[in-house]
Amino acid sequence: MAQLLDGKRIADDIRAEVKLDVDVLLSKGARPPGLAVVLVGGDPASTVYVGSKVKACQELGYYSARHDLPASTTTAELLAVVDALNHDDRVDGILVQLPLPKHIDETLVLDAIVPHKDVDGFHPVNVGLLYLGQEARSLTPCTPTGIIELLQRYDIDVLGKRAVVIGRSAIVGKPMISLLINRSATVTVCHSKTKDLPGVCREADILIAAIGRTGFVTDQFVKPGAVVIDVGINPVTDAAVARELFGDDEKRLAAIERRGQTLAGDVNPRLVEPVAGWLTPVPGGVGPLTIAMLMKNTLKAHRLRDQAATA
Ligand code: NAD
Repeated sequence: MAQLLDGKRIADDIRAEVKLDVDVLLSKGARPPGLAVVLVGGDPASTVYVGSKVKACQELGYYSARHDLPASTTTAELLAVVDALNHDDRVDGILVQLPLPKHIDETLVLDAIVPHKDVDGFHPVNVGLLYLGQEARSLTPCTPTGIIELLQRYDIDVLGKRAVVIGRSAIVGKPMISLLINRSATVTVCHSKTKDLPGVCREADILIAAIGRTGFVTDQFVKPGAVVIDVGINPVTDAAVARELFGDDEKRLAAIERRGQTLAGDVNPRLVEPVAGWLTPVPGGVGPLTIAMLMKNTLKAHRLRDQAATA
Protein backbone atom coordinates (compact mmCIF):
# COMPACT_ATOMS: atom_id res chain seq x y z
CA MET A 1 0.00 0.00 0.00
CA ALA A 2 1.43 3.38 -1.02
CA GLN A 3 2.62 5.81 1.62
CA LEU A 4 1.11 9.26 1.23
CA LEU A 5 3.38 12.24 0.54
CA ASP A 6 2.07 14.97 2.83
CA GLY A 7 2.30 18.15 0.75
CA LYS A 8 0.44 20.16 3.36
CA ARG A 9 3.06 19.40 6.03
CA ILE A 10 5.95 20.14 3.65
CA ALA A 11 4.27 23.40 2.57
CA ASP A 12 3.93 24.40 6.25
CA ASP A 13 7.65 23.66 6.76
CA ILE A 14 8.60 25.77 3.73
CA ARG A 15 6.47 28.69 4.92
CA ALA A 16 7.98 28.46 8.43
CA GLU A 17 11.50 28.58 6.93
CA VAL A 18 10.58 31.55 4.73
CA LYS A 19 9.11 33.31 7.78
CA LEU A 20 12.38 32.85 9.70
CA ASP A 21 14.34 34.35 6.79
CA VAL A 22 11.93 37.27 6.51
CA ASP A 23 12.14 37.93 10.25
CA VAL A 24 15.95 38.11 9.96
CA LEU A 25 15.64 40.53 7.02
CA LEU A 26 13.23 42.75 8.92
CA SER A 27 15.34 42.66 12.09
CA LYS A 28 18.21 44.07 10.03
CA GLY A 29 16.02 46.94 8.92
CA ALA A 30 15.65 45.70 5.33
CA ARG A 31 12.42 46.23 3.44
CA PRO A 32 10.04 43.25 3.36
CA PRO A 33 9.65 41.14 0.22
CA GLY A 34 6.71 42.37 -1.83
CA LEU A 35 4.24 40.57 -4.07
CA ALA A 36 1.67 42.17 -6.37
CA VAL A 37 -1.19 40.00 -7.58
CA VAL A 38 -3.30 41.10 -10.52
CA LEU A 39 -6.74 39.61 -11.08
CA VAL A 40 -8.75 40.44 -14.19
CA GLY A 41 -12.46 39.60 -13.98
CA GLY A 42 -14.20 37.82 -11.14
CA ASP A 43 -13.69 34.13 -12.00
CA PRO A 44 -14.67 32.42 -8.70
CA ALA A 45 -11.78 29.90 -8.64
CA SER A 46 -9.22 32.62 -9.48
CA THR A 47 -10.69 34.90 -6.80
CA VAL A 48 -10.17 32.13 -4.21
CA TYR A 49 -6.57 31.53 -5.39
CA VAL A 50 -5.74 35.24 -5.28
CA GLY A 51 -7.26 35.53 -1.79
CA SER A 52 -5.06 32.66 -0.57
CA LYS A 53 -1.94 34.28 -2.06
CA VAL A 54 -2.64 37.64 -0.42
CA LYS A 55 -3.34 35.91 2.92
CA ALA A 56 -0.06 33.98 2.68
CA CYS A 57 1.78 37.30 2.12
CA GLN A 58 0.15 38.85 5.17
CA GLU A 59 1.05 35.87 7.37
CA LEU A 60 4.71 36.15 6.36
CA GLY A 61 5.01 39.92 6.80
CA TYR A 62 5.35 40.61 3.06
CA TYR A 63 4.27 43.83 1.42
CA SER A 64 1.31 42.80 -0.69
CA ALA A 65 -0.72 44.63 -3.31
CA ARG A 66 -3.84 43.29 -4.93
CA HIS A 67 -5.15 44.75 -8.19
CA ASP A 68 -8.69 43.73 -9.06
CA LEU A 69 -9.44 44.81 -12.62
CA PRO A 70 -12.78 44.51 -14.42
CA ALA A 71 -13.32 41.77 -17.03
CA SER A 72 -13.55 44.53 -19.67
CA THR A 73 -9.87 45.52 -19.09
CA THR A 74 -7.99 45.80 -22.39
CA THR A 75 -4.53 44.38 -23.10
CA ALA A 76 -3.16 47.96 -23.20
CA GLU A 77 -4.68 48.77 -19.79
CA LEU A 78 -3.28 45.59 -18.25
CA LEU A 79 0.14 46.31 -19.78
CA ALA A 80 0.05 49.74 -18.10
CA VAL A 81 -0.59 48.12 -14.70
CA VAL A 82 2.29 45.65 -15.26
CA ASP A 83 4.58 48.50 -16.30
CA ALA A 84 3.78 50.43 -13.11
CA LEU A 85 4.52 47.33 -11.01
CA ASN A 86 7.77 46.73 -12.90
CA HIS A 87 8.87 50.17 -11.68
CA ASP A 88 7.45 49.87 -8.14
CA ASP A 89 10.36 49.40 -5.72
CA ARG A 90 8.17 47.80 -3.05
CA VAL A 91 7.34 44.95 -5.41
CA ASP A 92 9.71 41.99 -5.92
CA GLY A 93 7.22 39.66 -7.54
CA ILE A 94 4.38 40.25 -9.99
CA LEU A 95 1.76 37.57 -10.52
CA VAL A 96 -0.92 37.96 -13.15
CA GLN A 97 -3.55 35.36 -12.28
CA LEU A 98 -4.37 33.03 -15.19
CA PRO A 99 -6.51 32.38 -17.10
CA LEU A 100 -7.03 35.90 -18.45
CA PRO A 101 -10.23 36.82 -20.31
CA LYS A 102 -10.00 35.62 -23.93
CA HIS A 103 -9.75 39.10 -25.47
CA ILE A 104 -6.47 39.81 -23.63
CA ASP A 105 -3.18 38.84 -25.30
CA GLU A 106 -1.78 36.62 -22.53
CA THR A 107 1.65 36.17 -24.14
CA LEU A 108 2.14 39.92 -24.50
CA VAL A 109 1.20 40.47 -20.85
CA LEU A 110 3.40 37.70 -19.40
CA ASP A 111 6.34 38.82 -21.55
CA ALA A 112 5.94 42.38 -20.25
CA ILE A 113 6.78 41.40 -16.65
CA VAL A 114 10.48 42.07 -16.05
CA PRO A 115 12.14 38.64 -15.70
CA HIS A 116 13.52 39.32 -12.21
CA LYS A 117 9.97 39.98 -10.91
CA ASP A 118 8.43 37.04 -12.76
CA VAL A 119 7.69 34.86 -9.69
CA ASP A 120 5.54 32.49 -11.76
CA GLY A 121 8.63 31.68 -13.87
CA PHE A 122 6.72 31.96 -17.15
CA HIS A 123 8.82 34.67 -18.86
CA PRO A 124 10.90 33.35 -21.79
CA VAL A 125 14.11 34.50 -20.06
CA ASN A 126 13.33 32.39 -16.99
CA VAL A 127 12.14 29.49 -19.16
CA GLY A 128 15.44 29.66 -21.04
CA LEU A 129 17.57 29.84 -17.91
CA LEU A 130 15.78 26.80 -16.48
CA TYR A 131 16.28 24.94 -19.76
CA LEU A 132 19.98 25.81 -19.66
CA GLY A 133 20.23 24.45 -16.12
CA GLN A 134 20.87 27.90 -14.61
CA GLU A 135 18.28 27.67 -11.87
CA ALA A 136 20.22 29.68 -9.29
CA ARG A 137 19.74 32.93 -11.22
CA SER A 138 16.25 32.23 -12.51
CA LEU A 139 12.75 32.02 -11.10
CA THR A 140 11.18 28.64 -11.79
CA PRO A 141 7.45 27.76 -11.91
CA CYS A 142 5.95 27.16 -8.48
CA THR A 143 4.08 23.86 -8.98
CA PRO A 144 6.90 21.76 -10.51
CA THR A 145 9.49 23.37 -8.23
CA GLY A 146 7.28 22.44 -5.28
CA ILE A 147 7.25 18.83 -6.49
CA ILE A 148 11.07 18.81 -6.49
CA GLU A 149 11.05 20.16 -2.90
CA LEU A 150 8.55 17.48 -1.89
CA LEU A 151 10.72 14.69 -3.34
CA GLN A 152 13.87 16.12 -1.72
CA ARG A 153 12.26 16.45 1.69
CA TYR A 154 11.10 12.82 1.56
CA ASP A 155 14.66 11.80 0.54
CA ILE A 156 13.41 10.49 -2.79
CA ASP A 157 16.46 10.76 -5.02
CA VAL A 158 15.79 11.43 -8.71
CA LEU A 159 19.38 10.98 -9.93
CA GLY A 160 19.53 8.18 -12.49
CA LYS A 161 15.83 7.34 -12.02
CA ARG A 162 13.37 6.87 -14.87
CA ALA A 163 10.87 9.72 -14.60
CA VAL A 164 7.81 9.92 -16.80
CA VAL A 165 5.82 13.17 -17.00
CA ILE A 166 2.30 13.04 -18.48
CA GLY A 167 1.42 16.49 -19.82
CA ARG A 168 3.52 19.08 -21.64
CA SER A 169 1.97 22.37 -20.54
CA ALA A 170 4.19 25.43 -20.09
CA ILE A 171 2.97 25.72 -16.48
CA VAL A 172 3.66 22.19 -15.22
CA GLY A 173 4.82 19.54 -17.72
CA LYS A 174 7.61 21.35 -19.57
CA PRO A 175 9.30 22.99 -16.55
CA MET A 176 8.96 19.66 -14.69
CA ILE A 177 10.98 17.99 -17.45
CA SER A 178 13.80 20.56 -17.15
CA LEU A 179 13.87 20.40 -13.35
CA LEU A 180 14.17 16.60 -13.50
CA ILE A 181 16.85 16.61 -16.21
CA ASN A 182 18.82 19.21 -14.24
CA ARG A 183 18.84 16.68 -11.37
CA SER A 184 20.03 13.86 -13.65
CA ALA A 185 16.84 11.87 -13.97
CA THR A 186 16.20 10.05 -17.25
CA VAL A 187 13.05 11.75 -18.42
CA THR A 188 10.28 10.79 -20.81
CA VAL A 189 7.45 13.20 -21.57
CA CYS A 190 4.03 11.90 -22.63
CA HIS A 191 1.03 13.75 -24.02
CA SER A 192 -2.27 13.20 -25.78
CA LYS A 193 -0.55 11.73 -28.87
CA THR A 194 1.69 9.25 -27.00
CA LYS A 195 1.29 5.64 -28.13
CA ASP A 196 0.90 2.91 -25.48
CA LEU A 197 0.75 5.47 -22.67
CA PRO A 198 0.22 2.88 -19.88
CA GLY A 199 3.23 0.88 -21.14
CA VAL A 200 5.51 3.94 -21.18
CA CYS A 201 4.29 4.98 -17.72
CA ARG A 202 4.93 1.50 -16.31
CA GLU A 203 8.66 2.10 -16.95
CA ALA A 204 8.65 4.99 -14.47
CA ASP A 205 10.29 4.98 -11.07
CA ILE A 206 8.71 8.42 -10.69
CA LEU A 207 5.43 9.12 -12.49
CA ILE A 208 4.08 12.67 -12.60
CA ALA A 209 0.55 13.21 -13.90
CA ALA A 210 -0.38 16.75 -15.00
CA ILE A 211 -3.24 16.13 -17.39
CA GLY A 212 -6.46 17.60 -16.04
CA ARG A 213 -8.51 14.38 -16.43
CA THR A 214 -10.15 12.91 -13.35
CA GLY A 215 -8.76 9.53 -12.26
CA PHE A 216 -7.09 8.95 -15.64
CA VAL A 217 -4.04 7.15 -14.22
CA THR A 218 -4.96 3.63 -13.07
CA ASP A 219 -2.96 0.67 -11.73
CA GLN A 220 -2.24 -0.22 -15.40
CA PHE A 221 0.08 2.85 -15.55
CA VAL A 222 2.10 2.13 -12.42
CA LYS A 223 5.16 -0.02 -11.79
CA PRO A 224 4.95 -1.66 -8.34
CA GLY A 225 6.63 0.59 -5.77
CA ALA A 226 6.79 3.66 -8.05
CA VAL A 227 6.49 7.22 -6.75
CA VAL A 228 3.30 8.75 -8.17
CA ILE A 229 2.81 12.51 -8.11
CA ASP A 230 -0.71 13.71 -8.89
CA VAL A 231 -0.83 17.34 -10.05
CA GLY A 232 -4.44 17.31 -11.24
CA ILE A 233 -7.15 19.28 -9.47
CA ASN A 234 -10.54 18.30 -10.82
CA PRO A 235 -13.99 18.84 -9.31
CA VAL A 236 -16.10 15.70 -8.85
CA THR A 237 -19.83 16.30 -8.45
CA ASP A 238 -21.14 12.79 -9.06
CA ALA A 239 -21.27 10.35 -6.11
CA ALA A 240 -20.82 7.36 -8.46
CA VAL A 241 -17.56 8.84 -9.82
CA ALA A 242 -16.42 9.58 -6.25
CA ARG A 243 -17.04 5.92 -5.31
CA GLU A 244 -15.04 4.80 -8.34
CA LEU A 245 -12.11 6.94 -7.12
CA PHE A 246 -12.34 6.77 -3.34
CA GLY A 247 -14.43 3.66 -2.58
CA ASP A 248 -16.87 4.28 0.24
CA ASP A 249 -14.96 7.25 1.71
CA GLU A 250 -17.76 8.88 3.71
CA LYS A 251 -16.02 12.26 3.85
CA ARG A 252 -15.94 12.52 0.06
CA LEU A 253 -19.58 11.57 -0.32
CA ALA A 254 -20.55 13.98 2.46
CA ALA A 255 -18.59 16.79 0.71
CA ILE A 256 -20.59 16.24 -2.46
CA GLU A 257 -23.84 16.33 -0.47
CA ARG A 258 -22.84 19.44 1.48
CA ARG A 259 -20.82 21.50 -1.02
CA GLY A 260 -21.89 19.90 -4.29
CA GLN A 261 -18.36 18.66 -5.04
CA THR A 262 -15.14 17.05 -3.86
CA LEU A 263 -11.72 17.39 -5.47
CA ALA A 264 -9.91 14.60 -7.28
CA GLY A 265 -6.62 14.38 -9.11
CA ASP A 266 -5.55 12.78 -12.38
CA VAL A 267 -4.80 9.54 -10.53
CA ASN A 268 -7.38 6.99 -9.39
CA PRO A 269 -6.23 6.46 -5.77
CA ARG A 270 -8.45 3.41 -5.21
CA LEU A 271 -6.62 1.55 -7.98
CA VAL A 272 -3.14 3.08 -7.66
CA GLU A 273 -2.62 3.03 -3.86
CA PRO A 274 -2.28 -0.78 -3.69
CA VAL A 275 0.46 -0.71 -6.38
CA ALA A 276 2.49 2.49 -5.85
CA GLY A 277 5.20 2.99 -3.23
CA TRP A 278 4.38 6.66 -2.69
CA LEU A 279 1.43 8.80 -3.75
CA THR A 280 0.40 12.43 -3.31
CA PRO A 281 -3.22 12.82 -2.15
CA VAL A 282 -5.65 15.31 -3.65
CA PRO A 283 -6.27 17.60 -1.88
CA GLY A 284 -3.25 17.97 0.43
CA GLY A 285 -0.51 16.87 -1.98
CA VAL A 286 0.87 19.14 -4.68
CA GLY A 287 -1.73 21.92 -4.24
CA PRO A 288 -0.48 23.44 -0.95
CA LEU A 289 3.11 23.45 -2.25
CA THR A 290 2.28 25.86 -5.06
CA ILE A 291 1.52 28.84 -2.78
CA ALA A 292 4.41 27.98 -0.44
CA MET A 293 6.75 28.04 -3.44
CA LEU A 294 5.28 31.34 -4.61
CA MET A 295 6.27 32.81 -1.25
CA LYS A 296 9.73 31.25 -1.53
CA ASN A 297 10.13 32.55 -5.10
CA THR A 298 9.17 36.07 -3.97
CA LEU A 299 11.86 35.92 -1.28
CA LYS A 300 14.34 34.70 -3.92
CA ALA A 301 13.32 37.58 -6.23
CA HIS A 302 13.96 39.98 -3.31
CA ARG A 303 17.45 38.49 -2.85
CA LEU A 304 18.25 38.53 -6.57
CA ARG A 305 17.22 42.20 -6.79
CA ASP A 306 19.30 43.06 -3.72
CA GLN A 307 22.31 41.27 -5.18
CA ALA A 308 21.86 43.03 -8.53
CA ALA A 309 21.67 46.40 -6.72
CA THR A 310 24.89 45.81 -4.76
CA ALA A 311 26.82 44.21 -7.66
P1 NAD B 1 -3.09 21.67 -19.67
O1 NAD B 1 -4.50 21.43 -20.09
O2 NAD B 1 -2.40 22.94 -20.06
O3 NAD B 1 -2.18 20.47 -20.16
C1 NAD B 1 -2.63 19.14 -20.10
C2 NAD B 1 -1.61 18.24 -20.74
O4 NAD B 1 -2.11 16.90 -20.63
C3 NAD B 1 -1.38 18.52 -22.22
O5 NAD B 1 0.00 18.64 -22.47
C4 NAD B 1 -1.95 17.30 -22.94
O6 NAD B 1 -1.13 16.86 -24.04
C5 NAD B 1 -1.93 16.24 -21.85
N1 NAD B 1 -3.05 15.32 -22.07
C6 NAD B 1 -4.36 15.63 -22.23
N2 NAD B 1 -5.07 14.51 -22.46
C7 NAD B 1 -4.20 13.49 -22.46
C8 NAD B 1 -4.32 12.10 -22.66
N3 NAD B 1 -5.49 11.54 -22.91
N4 NAD B 1 -3.20 11.36 -22.60
C9 NAD B 1 -2.01 11.91 -22.35
N5 NAD B 1 -1.82 13.22 -22.13
C10 NAD B 1 -2.90 14.01 -22.20
O7 NAD B 1 -3.09 21.48 -18.09
P2 NAD B 1 -2.07 21.99 -16.92
O8 NAD B 1 -2.18 23.47 -16.76
O9 NAD B 1 -0.73 21.39 -17.10
O10 NAD B 1 -2.78 21.33 -15.65
C11 NAD B 1 -2.93 19.92 -15.55
C12 NAD B 1 -3.70 19.62 -14.28
O11 NAD B 1 -2.95 20.08 -13.18
C13 NAD B 1 -5.07 20.31 -14.18
O12 NAD B 1 -5.96 19.44 -13.49
C14 NAD B 1 -4.78 21.52 -13.34
O13 NAD B 1 -5.92 21.95 -12.62
C15 NAD B 1 -3.75 20.98 -12.41
N6 NAD B 1 -2.83 21.98 -11.85
C16 NAD B 1 -2.62 21.92 -10.52
C17 NAD B 1 -1.74 22.82 -9.92
C18 NAD B 1 -1.50 22.69 -8.45
O14 NAD B 1 -1.14 23.65 -7.81
N7 NAD B 1 -1.66 21.49 -7.90
C19 NAD B 1 -1.10 23.79 -10.68
C20 NAD B 1 -1.31 23.82 -12.06
C21 NAD B 1 -2.18 22.90 -12.64
